[in-house]
Amino acid sequence: MKRGDELELTIESFADKGKSLARVDGYVVFVGGAVPGDKVRAQVFKKKRKHAEARILEVLEPSPLRVEPRCAYFGVCGGCKWQHVDYAAQLEAKRESVEGALRYEAGLSDIVVEPTLPSPDVYFYRNKMEFSFSAERWLTQDEIGSDASFDRDFGLGLHPPGFYGKVVDLHECHLQSELSVRIVNRVRQLAKWENWQPWNVHTHEGFLRHLVIRQGVHTGETLVNLVTNGFVHKRMEQLATTLQNDCPEVTTLVNTIHTGLGQTSIGEETRTIYGPGLLHDTIGGLTFEIDPHAFFQTNTKGAEVLYTAAREAAGLGPDDLLYDLYCGAGTISLFCAPHVKHVVGVELVPEAVANAKANAERNGISNATFVAGDMLKLFTPEFVRKHGTPDVLIVDPPRAGMHHKVVKQIAELAPERLVYVSCNPRSQARDLAGLLDTYTVERVQPVDMFPHTAHVETVMTLRRK
Ligand code: SAH
Repeated sequence: MKRGDELELTIESFADKGKSLARVDGYVVFVGGAVPGDKVRAQVFKKKRKHAEARILEVLEPSPLRVEPRCAYFGVCGGCKWQHVDYAAQLEAKRESVEGALRYEAGLSDIVVEPTLPSPDVYFYRNKMEFSFSAERWLTQDEIGSDASFDRDFGLGLHPPGFYGKVVDLHECHLQSELSVRIVNRVRQLAKWENWQPWNVHTHEGFLRHLVIRQGVHTGETLVNLVTNGFVHKRMEQLATTLQNDCPEVTTLVNTIHTGLGQTSIGEETRTIYGPGLLHDTIGGLTFEIDPHAFFQTNTKGAEVLYTAAREAAGLGPDDLLYDLYCGAGTISLFCAPHVKHVVGVELVPEAVANAKANAERNGISNATFVAGDMLKLFTPEFVRKHGTPDVLIVDPPRAGMHHKVVKQIAELAPERLVYVSCNPRSQARDLAGLLDTYTVERVQPVDMFPHTAHVETVMTLRRK
């Protein structure tokens, strides 16, 4: 086999990062966009010692797991990779990926992984979207094939996979809401009419950088943040008038000024143009205040499923002392607080800790303590002496997992129950390897928070031997 070869492949299973896998005499070929059960003609574009990568030329026989994708931009836009896969099959693929991580990273092949809990909404499930402006619009095959002419120097939408300077100009999107699409289209229309220039990643010129839309799913509040290269008072006034007239559901407009080169929506300053400059949402009956840049689980209803699974896994009782480590704005802590005697949350980012404290007060919760600091330095025997020996730990670290010294500290402290919530089964399984002398795995529960993507969250219940 070599680059350029055409192969006929029968797709066996899903693989990492949403790709699928076929074998030719035992040799693995990864195929993007294919579905297990497909028979495809594909062309090899990368050849390595242990595997190759191939691109689909033609689907010869479609898998029964295929469904009609809903979005016109499917296959071009990087937002959703699995819209063409039956949802039940997506859930099973996620379950298998957790099983695979346990097998390869922790050497555990006999653990039963529960069926993945579905996201309550399969479309329109996100409460936050960050659309980008670009001076380089990416045209779809349909756009190229049509007779219409397109101004290629303006795009507002999402990136095609692997091209972070370019943008697919989206006129529909099924991730957030009908309102969110309407805002995108109205802002684009205004910007083009007024000739406001989009950011150019090569020349570092242009005014418009990102359009962030956040919605309180249970409160109906909507925050729009236009991220721009500099502040222009008149333009913000125009945008405010336009939104107030045509998208009156928007409760607040803010403007983040970002003159640096990084492609992020966090800038030097955020000004409130109208409304309160923040929004609220609720999880499990608790109200949370969300600043324009604050972290909040992006699937509100999915977060309720995840937190409920974590709370049940922890088997809480009224006399328990609970530690919620890597607690962010304290959402899990506050969700669990009514079920325990006391909860102690630890979080690196001081602003998030301030939010956690304010959230506790707002919801009338007085049995929660929040501490700002790096787990690696903070989580010591002195800390435990000061705050009390926990009966149960919930940890929810970032994608990279926990520092190996933190894993060791946990194994030494060895509370009876440990719940590991993770957004990355691989780092979770790797950390688990350091806990297996002390703990047995009781239950592994995957939860889907991101339909049509390969992402999966897991709630792992561990009990001291
Ligand atoms: N449980 C929260 C947030 C989880 S995200 C929720 O569900 O909303 C992981 C959190 O870990 C982030 O808030 C991040 O700031 C924090 N974090 C990352 N590294 C850390 C460290 N070394 N010590 C403490 N917290 C850390």
